Amino acid sequence: MDFNCITPSVVFQEVPDEISLCFSITGCKLGCKGCHSTELWHSKNGMALTNQAFILWLKKYKGLISCVVFFGGEWQANALIEKLQIAKSFGLKTCLYSGEEAEEKYIDLRITQHLNFLKTGAWRDELGGLESTHTNQVFRDLTTGEKLNHLFVKNSDNNSYNNPQKNNSLLGVGNVAA
Ligand code: SF4
Repeated sequence: MDFNCITPSVVFQEVPDEISLCFSITGCKLGCKGCHSTELWHSKNGMALTNQAFILWLKKYKGLISCVVFFGGEWQANALIEKLQIAKSFGLKTCLYSGEEAEEKYIDLRITQHLNFLKTGAWRDELGGLESTHTNQVFRDLTTGEKLNHLFVKNSDNNSYNNPQKNNSLLGVGNVAA
């Protein structure tokens, strides 16, 4: 079974206060209306993300990143867990952006035990993403259990847009891989 990704990129907004290498895994079956990432729907798209390939990416960015974020991939728990374990062995934090509607109790516990951060909730045009105050999506720090949505909301007193103390990352995420 394919575990493919499109070319990884370094991102600054998806995980608060972390510099993350982002792997978007293809094969998403949720089919959210208004999805901005339809190239992720087909599992044959992208390149094979074997463990060896993943390690090469981490070595390439060693010292430059603090976290690895996966957009999807939970539909292949074993392949994803292996990558999360490898990332941890490199001393990196881990995050999963899932389009599953419910919170983390519905995500495979075998996966969540290897995560620092988890975003849940499908993309809904009418509700918006994490930057929206009425979104259905939830971003949570799994080490503390704290919901961190407020860090993504523009004009909030608690985010980096208007708080210079926290401006080392600019936050606010659309429906990238929901
Ligand atoms: S928004 Fe995300 S979860 Fe929804 S269909 Fe697109 S890639 Fe899948």
